[in-house]
Amino acid sequence: MIPFLDLKAINAQYRDELVVAATRVIDSGWYINGDELEAFEKEFTNYCGAKHAIGVANGLDALILTLRAWKELGKLQKGNEVIVPSNTYIASILAISANDLTPILVEPDLDTYNIDPKNIESAITKKTKVILPVHLYGQLADMPAIMDIAQRHNLLVLEDAAQAHGAILEDRKAGNWGDAAGFSFYPGKNLGALGDAGAVTTNDTELAETLRALRNYGSYEKYRNIMQGINSRLDEIQAAMLSVKLGHLETEIAHRREVADLYLKGINHPSIILPTCKSRDAHVWHVFVIRCEKREALQKHLANQGVQTLIHYPIPPHKQQAYKEWNDLSYPVSEMIHQQALSLPIGPTITEQEIADVIKALNNFDNKNLG
Ligand SMILES: *Cc1c(COP(=O)(O)O)cnc(C)c1O
Repeated sequence: MIPFLDLKAINAQYRDELVVAATRVIDSGWYINGDELEAFEKEFTNYCGAKHAIGVANGLDALILTLRAWKELGKLQKGNEVIVPSNTYIASILAISANDLTPILVEPDLDTYNIDPKNIESAITKKTKVILPVHLYGQLADMPAIMDIAQRHNLLVLEDAAQAHGAILEDRKAGNWGDAAGFSFYPGKNLGALGDAGAVTTNDTELAETLRALRNYGSYEKYRNIMQGINSRLDEIQAAMLSVKLGHLETEIAHRREVADLYLKGINHPSIILPTCKSRDAHVWHVFVIRCEKREALQKHLANQGVQTLIHYPIPPHKQQAYKEWNDLSYPVSEMIHQQALSLPIGPTITEQEIADVIKALNNFDNKNLG
């Protein structure tokens, strides 16, 4: 079976370096908020080009805490509206609800699967305070257009960059476009820890300071709590793992781009819609998503041919039980994507032979006899 993503093989490439880093942490006797975190935050800051990076426990917390910090700083209040793409992963939306803010779902562009700036402007009301674009599947959203809208309407922008570490548009990386950005280092993300981890990047020093306190019980100074914060810290051992992995990220992205090129060149089937890429640098191919009306039949066919695929994502947020109040609403573009999307194997360790086998299996799909 060609695996969708072989995490074991990915981390095995760096085993020696990871063991050295883990040993360093074990022997240091210091496991939280220490030199490893500080070093990784600095490295990630340099990588993204933003002024500050604040490590937190996971990507969801990165988004939750940023919105929370804006509330603490008086920039947001309960009931304010946050514009978010209707086809995103649920975490982007949970972060809004968790802060008693109102998610306003906006349909994506069908070519890029990213939020359509044309739909943002008409969704803005007097209560709108934030746009939360998601760089979905690894491709930067149309940030020039989104920042232009935000400036004209005086809105904050929080990038959900959980899938897009290293994506670049107009010389600017993901995490350095909006007022802040949330990253996830979940093991399967392009920059993955060996457990949960996340970070916020920002150029706003006041926001960075507030986040440093919020992630640590609302405290800058031990036993002095100026806000009702939470415990959301990035462990030393994960920071050490991430420093190792960050050193290899550019090589891994280059490999993902080569795989994507081969897929785009090789896949040729009347029933399969290929993804589009605005520019080579703007996409880091966290996932390679094709669309097919007979998705279930295609997935079965691929499994029979030894190709593992996943669906990102099977149920749109507005159809989730967690958001019952939205279940009757209609977002036809998102619904179509959720019915047709299929993610092919892509990752830093997939081989040329495997890529050729995936392409062959796809091009062999006989959609007349199936489904
Ligand atoms: C993974 C992901 C998150 C959440 O990150 P976790 O580290 O799993 O909490 C948020 N948004 C998007 C778009 C993601 O893909």
